[in-house]
Amino acid sequence: MKIVVTGATSFLGAASVKELLGRGHKVYALVRPGSLNRKALPKEQEGLIVLETELSQLDRIEEKIPETCDGFLHFGWDGSGSENRKNAKVQQKNVEDSMKALKGAQKLGCRRFLFGGSQAEYGQRRDIMREDDVCHPVSEYGKAKLEFGIRAREYIKQQNNGLAGMEYIHARIFSVYGPGDHPWSLVNTCLDTFRRDGVMELGACTQFWNFLYVDDLVQALMSLLFYPGKRKEEIYNVAAEGAATRPLRDYVEEMHVLCGGMGTPRYGCLPPNAEGPANLIPDISRIQDETGWRPKVSFAEGIRRTLAAGAAEERRQHCLACGERLPNSVLLSFRDMPASAQNIPDAQEMKTDRGITLNLHRCSRCGLVQFDCMPVDYYRDVIRSGGFSTTMTELRRRQYRHLIETYGLEGKKFIEAGCGQGEFLTVLTEFPVRVYGVEHKRDLVRSAREKGLTVWEGFTESETTRLGEEGPYDVFLSFNFMEHQPDPGTMLECIRENLTEDGMGLITVPSLEYILQYDGYYELIRDHIAYYSFDTLERLLALHGFQVLEKEMVNRDTCSVIVRKVKEKKTDMAAALPELDFSALEKSHGEICRQTRKLQERLRQEKKTLALWGASHQGFTLAATTCLGETASYIMDSAPFKQGRFAPASHLPIVAPEHFLEEPVDVILIVAPGYTDEIAEIIRNRFSKTVQIMTMRSDRLEVL
Ligand SMILES: [Zn+2]
Repeated sequence: MKIVVTGATSFLGAASVKELLGRGHKVYALVRPGSLNRKALPKEQEGLIVLETELSQLDRIEEKIPETCDGFLHFGWDGSGSENRKNAKVQQKNVEDSMKALKGAQKLGCRRFLFGGSQAEYGQRRDIMREDDVCHPVSEYGKAKLEFGIRAREYIKQQNNGLAGMEYIHARIFSVYGPGDHPWSLVNTCLDTFRRDGVMELGACTQFWNFLYVDDLVQALMSLLFYPGKRKEEIYNVAAEGAATRPLRDYVEEMHVLCGGMGTPRYGCLPPNAEGPANLIPDISRIQDETGWRPKVSFAEGIRRTLAAGAAEERRQHCLACGERLPNSVLLSFRDMPASAQNIPDAQEMKTDRGITLNLHRCSRCGLVQFDCMPVDYYRDVIRSGGFSTTMTELRRRQYRHLIETYGLEGKKFIEAGCGQGEFLTVLTEFPVRVYGVEHKRDLVRSAREKGLTVWEGFTESETTRLGEEGPYDVFLSFNFMEHQPDPGTMLECIRENLTEDGMGLITVPSLEYILQYDGYYELIRDHIAYYSFDTLERLLALHGFQVLEKEMVNRDTCSVIVRKVKEKKTDMAAALPELDFSALEKSHGEICRQTRKLQERLRQEKKTLALWGASHQGFTLAATTCLGETASYIMDSAPFKQGRFAPASHLPIVAPEHFLEEPVDVILIVAPGYTDEIAEIIRNRFSKTVQIMTMRSDRLEVL
């Protein structure tokens, strides 16, 4: 059958789409234009057609869907968060948009329209909730869901005029949990907090509750959507069985046990939600009697599955370079780290943004130090932030000259795989060689072309990917890109296939040893999923048929190697791994936490205020992992695209430096490695001669 699903990226929408596809149906998944949650749906799957449309355009959906459909599943509903549930205007618009959806479904010839209603329609209750009860919804959200149900049934009755036509089914959904739910849902917050051994602050939790596992919910909806023959009723409660209904506190205690008894639930700390402390005591005999559907997953089983899905989603089990299983014990674990250095959340995105735990491992086979997280979603794009300094230009010029002169590469074809907007290729055009580049991010390709460079859009996706149109190439270049790659092996294989027989390469990556010796833990970021040193880089290269001819430490903190393609791939890793001392990273974390606490204490005693300067990844990490996040009032940054947004994980507001004049502080802490003195000058000249200026050097807080 052909089924339309609105709100297809929502928790329940995405789960329904998956089930429908699994049953072999064709699904038109409707998502909001530019939906941030697009990844909730499969990237590509047979039978899935994703269409972007606003909810207010649903009455013209036949313009986008060129065929008759069978069913319509309507989950599209704005503002289901706690605040918007109280907003009458937002909720009233949902009613109007849903009426449009109903008309759209009719135009498509759908035989059934299934609506995702809510227990909130019932209002505050202490007794069993049955479909025919008179409803007294409290929240605007509940009122709107109820109102739409009434209007929809009225409309259908008029249209059908007693004859067979589209059926309206109203599923009153109670409390659903499971993989894919919001991270801030009660179940997910409990699981996450307990597993982190944290304190979970809760309301009294004395109300009766009823949780249904998402797979059971989806099966219930399917039973309503595909029920043969005509429905007797229009409204159906969808929840777990009556026997599952018990005080919310019981559920919390069960989750606590299932998390191994870690963490602490603390009751009575939070006020009740928008609707007040409502009980959920559903009667589900109607759907059971009519469709034969029964919930199958117990709460304990559902929680186990939710925990397992979370673990499977977040962690890689194997070394990204050699495929060896990563050791069970981690080298170091950092909590509350920013989930990304580049995705800076706005007010809306902030609701789903939270800190992540980064576990550092060292592969016991190839020795590569790496995080066991999934990569950031933009790892194919080159990120070269900050000014393009003369030091860097000079370095590249020297490296190019050495490479070309030493190996006689005049007139040869060079390609940079991951060339950004061609910053380093421009320097290469000074030499008598042919210059090409490949870059994944379209905007950067455009900028590079505007500079007159020959750059193609592309990425080293697989061994058979052709890079650009001028291959094979004689030399490849890769500057600080490999440390972002979750599959550097495939990247190297692809490059190898695009090279001439004895092709060469120049690769740079940040040095692990430098970070261990000189940097604080706050240099570690999720964007850099791997941390190379000469020996691990050399092993990886040998594994994929490259021999290292020269190695050099450049700019003090970067490993640079010149390689040649060889016939033989070396899989032997017998050589012992060098000793590495990771204790400095842990110590730097402890030391910085101690110093920032001291600063916090001093500011409190002197009744002084603090702001940070520098919405850099180092600033984000410090704000999120030390008490600076709760001590500082804001982060100043001169980059306009960061202003008005929030630091990932700590959620400190990012403001323009001029904000200081409106909301002055007593102390400014600069966290912008490389620009500290320049920024201190700006502060003194433009803002205040008296404000105290501090900075972070390695693991020390210093007054400037
Ligand atoms: Zn390995």
